[in-house]
This record gives sequence, C-alpha cells and structure tokens, in this order.
Amino acid sequence: MKRLFYIVIFLHLTILPVLAEDDPFAKARNKMVEQDLKGRDINDTTVLRIMGKVQRHLFVDKSQQKSAYNDHPLPIAEGQTISQPYIVALMTQVLKIKPGEKVLEIGTGSGYQAAVLAEITDKVYTIEIRKGLAEQASAKLKELGYKNIMVKDADGYFGWEENAPFDAIIVTAAANHIPPPLIKQLKDGGRLVIPLGSTTYYQTLTLVTKIKGDDLRVEHITGVAFVPMVGEVQKRR
Ligand code: SAH
Repeated sequence: MKRLFYIVIFLHLTILPVLAEDDPFAKARNKMVEQDLKGRDINDTTVLRIMGKVQRHLFVDKSQQKSAYNDHPLPIAEGQTISQPYIVALMTQVLKIKPGEKVLEIGTGSGYQAAVLAEITDKVYTIEIRKGLAEQASAKLKELGYKNIMVKDADGYFGWEENAPFDAIIVTAAANHIPPPLIKQLKDGGRLVIPLGSTTYYQTLTLVTKIKGDDLRVEHITGVAFVPMVGEVQKRR
C-alpha cells in the first residue's frame, strides 16, 4: 500500500508535469474549438478533431504564442498573417477533402494551414512566393515530422503543373480574379477556395467546383480580409 502511495506521488511529481508542459496550450485550443468553431458553423468532425490537435502556437513567434488560440489573425514574418482559426477551419471544411486526395495550397505563410490539410490527406503541395517564409515553413514542418508536405518557393499563380491535377486547391491570399492555371490544374469534380475581390479591403470567400471542363459552380461563402496575393496576379486585369 505504501509502495503504491509512493508510485502515485512519483507520477504526480515527474510524469504528469512533463505531459502538461508538453502542451501548455491544450486548454486554450480546446476552448477555441468549442467556442469559436463548434459555436459557429464548423460541424465536420474531422476538421474539429484536427483543429483540436494541430498546435497552432508552434507556427508563430514566441511573443505571439499566448494569443495563438484567440479568435483573430496573427502576424507572422515579412508583414504577413496567419488567418483566424475559424477561417482556417471553414476553408478546410468547404473543400470536403478525403484521405488520399491531392491538395495544393497557394500561400504557405507559417505552414499552419498546410499542417491542418496534411492531417486529412497524405498529399499536400504548398507554394510560397516569399523565399524566407518558404524556407522557415519548410523547416518547421520538417521539425514537426510532416513528411507529406512539399513546399515550393515560387509564384503560385501558375500552380504546380508537374503534380497536377489536384482534387482541391486552397488560395490563402486575396486576388481580384482566379488564376486560370489553377482552374486548369483542378480535376473534374475538384474544389477551389479563394478570397476573391478587392485586395486592399474585404473579399468574398468563394468556392468554385469544377463540374467538368469549363463548367464551374460558384458559391459565395462569407466576407473575409486576407493579405494580397502578389506577383503575376497583379499584372493581369
Ligand atoms: N496559409 C498561411 C497564411 C497565408 S498569408 C498560414 O497558414 O500561415 C498569405 C501568404 O501568401 C503570405 O505568406 C504571402 O507571402 C503568400 N503569397 C502572396 N502572393 C503569393 C503568390 N503569388 N504565390 C504564393 N504565395 C503568395
């Protein structure tokens, strides 16, 4: 009996604090899932489970970690932002990605959205135009053990031809038109989500389903505010 008592004390003093320290933000993350995701219209159980699993605080600077699970976007390097958790969850939910599907992300940023996608499927391709961010995100994803995410430093306007066609494409920067190469690289039945509209103020989160060939179904999801997509997209239209 006495020995059991000592074992219990030992566990409390050593193992339990280690577990807690491993994930000091578990409580904040859980609250975010309950309040900001389930409390709104995120009801896909896979998306909810993954948002409760991926440690968003590991994708931001130490100084931002305490705000990582708050209901707003967060600054990352080079003047860019990582979207509010609800928007990450919403974009993931509307894409209805199934395991095994091939997904392309434009705008790697911190790598957080790519990590969320890689928890659903094992083929994630992501393109980032800012070299520093691409390198940082690539290193972070590797450190966290994501072997199924390929990061490329390039202008995402042109997609990733060698790995096309994709089942789903997620654009996480605002554009005033949908880059035609992205539509082209989408499979029939594929889905693309993009913040579409003015790049300085607000945009409309838009879901495009490629029925077949040029036959597209366009749905407006909600109003959003993203950082602008830069590069080729700004030279056209
Ligand atoms: N999805 C990211 C946040 C995206 S912020 C995350 O989870 O952290 C938008 C990102 O798009 C920025 O990092 C910006 O540099 C990148 N970007 C802007 N224009 C781009 C382009 N043409 N091609 C690829 N990335 C672009």
